[in-house]
Amino acid sequence: ANVSHELKTPLTSIQGYAQALLDGAAADPQRAAGVIHDEAQRLARLVEELLDLAKLDTGQAALDRRPVDLPAILAAIVERLTLKAQERGVLLENHANTLPGLIGDGDRLAQVFTNLIDNALKHTPRGGVVKLGSEAEPGWITVHVEDSGPGIPPNELSRIFERFYQLDKARSGSGPRGVGLGLAISREIVQAHGGTVSATSAMGQGSRFSVRLPIIRPGDVTLARPRA
Ligand code: ADP
Repeated sequence: ANVSHELKTPLTSIQGYAQALLDGAAADPQRAAGVIHDEAQRLARLVEELLDLAKLDTGQAALDRRPVDLPAILAAIVERLTLKAQERGVLLENHANTLPGLIGDGDRLAQVFTNLIDNALKHTPRGGVVKLGSEAEPGWITVHVEDSGPGIPPNELSRIFERFYQLDKARSGSGPRGVGLGLAISREIVQAHGGTVSATSAMGQGSRFSVRLPIIRPGDVTLARPRA
């Protein structure tokens, strides 16, 4: 039901604007074309994320486990997103540089951190800061992504990882509207690594997302988590 609802809304809007263009009834054809373009883009993203979730669900997306240099991965993501941060007038600081190596799927972990940093940038107002930090404890490492955005209400903190869950639009950052699957996908990936992802937040001060991952060494081969 969720999926069909999410598909239907942009389709209805594409149909409506396309019909208006065909009838020559669109007051502003350029804008109508723009709406069609944006909604089609949103649909494409929705389908892509749904397919990704389906793969993770059925276990088809087997993790490609290799030794992972997490600080290098984080540095590469930060480098890639620095321009975007500058354009938004947000400072992006990477303090996550002392981390032991671990075994995992580097591409999938990069997807998780890209999503978290993207979200943090999207929700942080001009002049704000997004910070990456890290902690190590025996057997585990934790990477934090902290923003100085509006925060997430306490009663919604546990729900933002649910599929399709979105905070109300007024609070949903700027830029193209998401589909509420990014955090759900991130959680699946982290759990497949035997880890957890959580969030804390203070209204008006910001949010902090933490990814805690077990340090698995070569030889620890039996991490595959049987699906419930
Ligand atoms: P989307 O792709 O729609 O952003 P996500 O699964 O990434 O979906 O996020 C779920 C909800 O949590 C969204 O409504 C988003 O606005 C909110 N959210 C995610 N990260 C943050 C953050 N750092 N600060 C405030 N709200 C956030």
